[in-house]
Amino acid sequence: MSETVGLSPTGDGPPARFAVPDHTRGSIAGSDAKASVITGVSNGADWLARYSSSLMGVFGTPQRVLVRGAGCLVWDADGKEYLDLLGGIAVNALGHAHPFVTSVISSQLATLGHVSNFFTSPTQIALAEKLLSLSKAPAGSKVFFANSGTEANEAAFKLARRNNADGKRTKIIALEGAFHGRTMGALALTAKEAYRAPFEPLPGGVVHIPFNDIDALRAAVDDSTAAVFLEPIQGEAGVRPLSTEYLRAAREATSAAGALLILDEVQTGIGRTGKWLASEDAGIVPDAVTLAKGLGGGFPVGALVTFGSTTSALLTAGQHGTTFGGNPVATAAALATLHAIESQGVLQNVLAVGAHLRDGLAAHEAVTEVRGEGLLIGFDVDADVAPAMVTAALDAGFIINSPGPRTIRLAPPLILTIEQADRFLTALPALISTAKATTSKDNK
Ligand code: PLP
Repeated sequence: MSETVGLSPTGDGPPARFAVPDHTRGSIAGSDAKASVITGVSNGADWLARYSSSLMGVFGTPQRVLVRGAGCLVWDADGKEYLDLLGGIAVNALGHAHPFVTSVISSQLATLGHVSNFFTSPTQIALAEKLLSLSKAPAGSKVFFANSGTEANEAAFKLARRNNADGKRTKIIALEGAFHGRTMGALALTAKEAYRAPFEPLPGGVVHIPFNDIDALRAAVDDSTAAVFLEPIQGEAGVRPLSTEYLRAAREATSAAGALLILDEVQTGIGRTGKWLASEDAGIVPDAVTLAKGLGGGFPVGALVTFGSTTSALLTAGQHGTTFGGNPVATAAALATLHAIESQGVLQNVLAVGAHLRDGLAAHEAVTEVRGEGLLIGFDVDADVAPAMVTAALDAGFIINSPGPRTIRLAPPLILTIEQADRFLTALPALISTAKATTSKDNK
């Protein structure tokens, strides 16, 4: 018998040691198994040519071909280094190749990689318990595991449809600017016309109301409303926070009408804002929360948490399911991520580095507004140069994102240091002026 480090079955304690039988370690490829399955060695340009002839064009042309990461740094196929200030869009909570998460995933994979949902496994149960505890869910609350944010929201959409005992609750309310995913149910909740129009008809009954407008909310929520879906901070719309008053008003209005309040914390949850859930400060108990992105620290996993026994009983046996959801490796990855965030002071780091970044950004004369919380930050510049800033940043060794023509979004690993934040703040003036120069040249 040989041994590898694994996570204790509860996920709460320090890593325990699990025995892994030697016969499970057989290799078909000798010492470098990875090299034997990656076909050919290319530079960035060659990989991109192969990409465009083999992958569907839904993402446009990738900006770079990334081959390796460590902490907040990544390297491309040509050997260039980048400071990753986007973290896989709020996914790589602990950066890249985190040693503890990597070790737990490897250990779990070498022990039990997958079981069907006719069975369960300790990591699945431990993760459900952990999420219920972190989200301070009351007795009777439950978890459903999915593989992504859109699937977590798909489950929440079906939950909302089940909140219809009298057959009259057909309305689901979402907000203008909302992004809840790309599958058909989640797309029906998503507001952007360009995403929706090619796929109509979408599942019906969804209405979009103005963002952060309490009067519009109160007018819209009635006894035909099954659920209200809210993102505490709209990430894709440029990092737009809902006010605490709005979240409280939403809780009041939905409770009074018998509608569910469903919070999409796919982007904002798991420490992104320096709290486990961005909605924590509002002091409300929602009916459901969806999670994904940072939950697996880079490994695909999503979750729907339902609060209280009544809501948790809405979806019954056979009404929903997934092959991979709750997979032992994905749930081990999430347990490892949560354990590392908890035990290594990561939330405090998010608050400190986030405040430092926001202060530094606000001090720049070309920055007109800074929004967000913790390490989910949006800022506007004084000209429509955000896409050109993304290009200038890449050339200068930074990965950032532009969700709007003059908006930049940062969602770096939660372990970003003050020094790394300062590296970006120091580079920012040059990025803005390069972007302005290239944009005015392109417009001539
Ligand atoms: N909900 C929110 C708030 C998101 O930001 C996203 C993705 O950006 C999703 C849902 C969809 O998640 P996924 O891309 O994992 O399906």
